[in-house]
Amino acid sequence: MRHIAIVGSGPAGYYTAEAAQKKYGDDVRIDIIDRLPVPFGLIRFGVAPDHQSIKAVSKRYEKVALSSNVRFVGNVTVGQHISVEELCGLYDAVVLATGAPKDRELDIKGADLPGVYGSAAFVGWYNGHPDFADLNPPLDGSHVAIIGNGNVALDVARILSKTREEFVGSDIVSHALSRLMGAKTEQITILGRRGPHQIAMTPKELGELGRLEKAAPYVDRNDLPEEGADALLEPGMRKSVMHLREFARIPESYRAEKDIRIEFDFFAAPVAIEGEGRAQKLIIERTLLDKDLRSQGTGETYSMKADMVISCIGYQTPPIEGVPFEHGRGRFANDEGRILPGLYCAGWARRGPSGTIGTNRPDGYAIVDMIEEDIGSGAGADPERGGRPALDALLKERGADLVTFNDWKKSKKPKRPAPVMAHRMRNLSGSKI
Ligand code: NAP
Repeated sequence: MRHIAIVGSGPAGYYTAEAAQKKYGDDVRIDIIDRLPVPFGLIRFGVAPDHQSIKAVSKRYEKVALSSNVRFVGNVTVGQHISVEELCGLYDAVVLATGAPKDRELDIKGADLPGVYGSAAFVGWYNGHPDFADLNPPLDGSHVAIIGNGNVALDVARILSKTREEFVGSDIVSHALSRLMGAKTEQITILGRRGPHQIAMTPKELGELGRLEKAAPYVDRNDLPEEGADALLEPGMRKSVMHLREFARIPESYRAEKDIRIEFDFFAAPVAIEGEGRAQKLIIERTLLDKDLRSQGTGETYSMKADMVISCIGYQTPPIEGVPFEHGRGRFANDEGRILPGLYCAGWARRGPSGTIGTNRPDGYAIVDMIEEDIGSGAGADPERGGRPALDALLKERGADLVTFNDWKKSKKPKRPAPVMAHRMRNLSGSKI
């Protein structure tokens, strides 16, 4: 019997569990530990609430979660209730699938002013993450600046722009929906420090921005490279740039009918945020690309009104005491997922925050192959390791209030008929409106 502990119940955690189940069948016990009392990590708290087709992957994880040899151990923090070293003493393999829930730091003056948020906080707020329920972002201003040219920037711009009707079928939480419906936003500026050919936005997500009920995008055609240059781009990127070209062709009369203008400002690096006690103004430096396509400041600066600034510049994995960490890349130091024999990492904690949900699947399977290499066909598994019962004894001793998958399922069962109106939704229920 092998005992495997997986830390983190997001996509990387569940794909790793699925792979271990496939490889070992009944000959494995898997504990998936999470600091939150609810499973699914990024699927629940990172994926946009109006992207239900992406969230549907949790059905697959649920199948794994409900099998008899897999257990969700929620409400338990590794590094607080139990150390990684202790876990390694109890399990044949420990896999850190902790994702990258921490914002990459926006290192400019004024980034600590009220009204400036990292995307982990802002996205967490509208997705019902318990850490960000009290964020209370200022939605009373007319101008919002979004920093970064990735898909998270698009998610945030779209969520800020939708009508109540456009949220039907989503699982946005009620506290966020009611605040968003009262927002006074007129202009959202998405700032990219490089150009249209360097965006990290995918075509589907860009396309959505062009089909909003009360908002319309704007791209300055002068920012776009010669059309012929698109031929050199890989097909996905070419499609994304095609959307930007479409946005540049939208007539001003169409935009005038909309409440919100979503403006792309390329070659624009934020250098400071200013304001009296809260964000009011963003100072931006015009950039150029160098021969390696990196952005270089030109020294020319300008400012824009910014009542709220949301920095969507990527994420990092929080370090765990005693685990080797690559600070520059914001992930655990590892060799293809192996930190040490017996200790592994998967998903964003291994690669950094890139790729789609599906990218984590081969990752999980590769880690299980590596575990097999290290512990062998069972001969390497140590019969002395206490596994699940030993973990439970330790957690009990330390007063941890463990939440299992079934506990969570029971807690989210509605006590009255399922709500149909957005404002009647519950916080962590995950129910659709
Ligand atoms: P991302 O794709 O890495 O994009 C980060 C953006 O921030 C880049 O445009 C980057 O510009 C910019 N940036 C970084 N540091 C900056 C700085 N100091 N100042 C100004 N700009 C800066 O990150 P993300 O948008 O957070 O997405 C993370 C991952 O989740 C990606 O793989 C993404 O595709 C995925 N995701 C997917 C979906 C979806 O499929 N629907 C939705 C959301 C997220 P440079 O290129 O110049 O560095």
